[in-house]
Order: sequence, then C-alpha cells, then structure tokens
Amino acid sequence: MEGAVEPLAAEPIALDQALGRVLAEPVVAAEDRPPFASSAMDGVAVVSGPERTLAIVDEARAGHPASVPVASGSAVTISTGAPIPSGADAVVPIERVRVFDGGVRVPATRPGANVRGAGEDVKAGELVLRAGAALGPAELAVSASLGRAALRCRARPRVAVIVTGDELVTPGDAAGAGQIYDSNTPAIAAAAERSGAEVISRARVRDDRRATTDAIAAALEAADVVCISGGVSVGEHDHVKPALTELGVEEIFWRVQLKPGKPTWFGRRSATLVFGLPGNPVSAIVTFHLFARRALRLLQGAQPDDVRTTATLDAPVDRARARVQAVRCRLTAARDGWHVTPTKAQGSHVLTSMLGAGALALIPAGEGSVAAGASVDIELIG
Ligand code: AMP
Ligand code: MG
Repeated sequence: MEGAVEPLAAEPIALDQALGRVLAEPVVAAEDRPPFASSAMDGVAVVSGPERTLAIVDEARAGHPASVPVASGSAVTISTGAPIPSGADAVVPIERVRVFDGGVRVPATRPGANVRGAGEDVKAGELVLRAGAALGPAELAVSASLGRAALRCRARPRVAVIVTGDELVTPGDAAGAGQIYDSNTPAIAAAAERSGAEVISRARVRDDRRATTDAIAAALEAADVVCISGGVSVGEHDHVKPALTELGVEEIFWRVQLKPGKPTWFGRRSATLVFGLPGNPVSAIVTFHLFARRALRLLQGAQPDDVRTTATLDAPVDRARARVQAVRCRLTAARDGWHVTPTKAQGSHVLTSMLGAGALALIPAGEGSVAAGASVDIELIG
C-alpha cells in the first residue's frame, strides 16, 4: 500500500483548528523556553549565601521585571513567574522569610534555589516536534509556548462513503420484509473522521450497475479516498467491480487472506484511492481499520505502524487454517503490558462483537489454536 499512497499537500493551520491534524513540518525552537530565568515561588530574590538580614530595594512581578539590581545586602520581593533580577541567583519562599521594619531575615540559601532556569524546558535550536507527529493538546500547548500561531499540517483526506444493497434502509425509516438498517455508513464515516479524514459525502445505492457506476463516478471527482461497502464479491448482484473497471480505477489488490474481510478490494485512479470493503458490518469495520485507515494515515504523513504493538492473549483462540484472523478484543493494561481477550463470538455478522473492542488481535493462519498467555500482534482501534 505504501507504494500507492503519496502524502497530501501541506497547509498552514491555526492552532485552534489543528487538533488531530498531522504535522507536515518539524517544529524547532527559535529561542530558549522558558525564555528567561524566573522565580518558581512567591518570595524574595537574593544573592545566595548564609543566613542574614537584607534591605528590600524593589519588587518583581510576573510581567513586570524589577529595575533595581540585587546585591549581597539587598533583596527584591518576587512573584512566581517574575524574571530573576540582575545580581540575584536564588529565591527564598515567602514562608521562610521573617519581615522586620525596613528589612527581611532570610535563612542560608543555595545558588539556584527556587529559580527556573532559562532553557530548562527547551533549548534554542532544539527539535521539539517531528513532521508526522499527531497534534494533541500537549503538542498544541508546546507549539503555543514557542509563539507559533499556526503550523503546517497535511490536508485532511476527503472521504466519500458509498454503501450498496437493495436490502438497506436508513435508520429512522420503516424496515420492510427482508430489509435491514444501514450500519456501515455510520461505522465507516465515524472511523474515517477518527482517522483524521473529512467525510464529504455519504451515498446509498441499490444493487444496480448504472446507479453504482454513477455514485462511484461522482465520488471519484470529489474525494481523495472512496470507501464503498458491499457488492464487491462475484455474485450476480455485485456491481462494484465492473463499475470500477468501467470508470478506469486500476485494481491494486482484490481478496486478502484475512478473516473477516476476504473480498476486500483496493485500487486507485490517478491519486484517488478506492476501497471496496465487504458488506458484512464487522468485516467492513475491520478492513476499514487494517487497510483504509492505514491509507488515511499515509496520506496525512503519519506513521501507519504507530497503531501496531503486541499484547498477551488472555484466552485461547482457534486459528483459521489459511487466513490471518482479526479478533475483536477488549484491551487492558497490566503490569507486564497490554493484554487482550476476545469480546464475544466472532461471526462477521455479530456487530456487537465490536462493542468494547480496543484492539484487533492478528492471529496468524495455521492449525490448532493460539494458547492463552501467548504474545500476539495487535492493531489498536478506537
Ligand atoms: P455484500 O458484501 O454486499 O454481499 O453484503 C454482505 C452482507 O453484509 C449482507 O448480509 C448484507 O446485507 C450486509 N450489508 C451490506 N451492506 C450493509 C450495510 N451498509 N449495513 C449493514 N449490513 C450490510
Ligand atoms: Mg450486497
């Protein structure tokens, strides 16, 4: 997949719009942070030394530096965050200062006591965030502390969602004989948004060649990624593959050795990526995570493998002979790391097996079962 996906363009994004975006540039500190030595306490700024009595000569407050320097016989009252006055190298907290008429008595003080040094957080020239970093609250706060109002981020991939099936009804409408509610649209759209994408359209088409081709053609014009669910097998009423061929979408793969999710299709037309996801609700979600989310991360310049790790399997799982199994698992943290246990029965129509699933355990194909206590690869999902 890596070879088929180029990152999208970068664009400057204001910090208050940048939550969840992926950085397209490294962030390097132009200056030290904190920018100046400041007091960590309310107290008096002094020249470090033995216990003695000092004359107060000025005041330093946050945002208002003192104008009188400190010498060995003098002190400046100081608030948390105020710059250390010139000459001073320590702060005595107010609780430890005894106040007299015209002076203060301070205990013995070490150099640097209660002083936050310039550059203790970040040094000028330091690489603070790498390109490809996901912007969460901490990244936004650090960027703001460096004075950045905007950051260059990858564009959000535009995703078009198409579901296919004569049996589908929109939730809220009445379901007639043989009809079921469309659950793949909310599943795929929500997972796409969680993956940093912007969902630009949602369409439902009947199992009809013309309708399928028209819907896919419209999506190809507007989207970076088209996610189609259902109709991608070889049944008489599966129109997605012929429609994609007619529209000149080049097949990169069709069918994967995965359970659930075997009929997954992936292709592209110039830079637009197309996923044909199986219609079974669990298969659609699983293959979205393993394939479409991976592409969305690559489009945003993020590391796709950041969502992969290993965990201890807490219950035995039967292997599938010829296919990797993506088992929906509850994820828990223990002293020895992540643990996973299957949520419930794993049929690809058992949509509630997704509830509470924080990870997919990827069980290699083979005979027999994987024993409880084994280490397995997992993909974190959310
Ligand atoms: P298909 O891949 O079109 O053969 O569909 C496989 C199974 O998934 C069938 O049981 C469909 O009814 C079901 N299915 C397809 N699309 C959806 C959808 N959008 N929401 C819920 N179930 C679906
Ligand atoms: Mg169908």
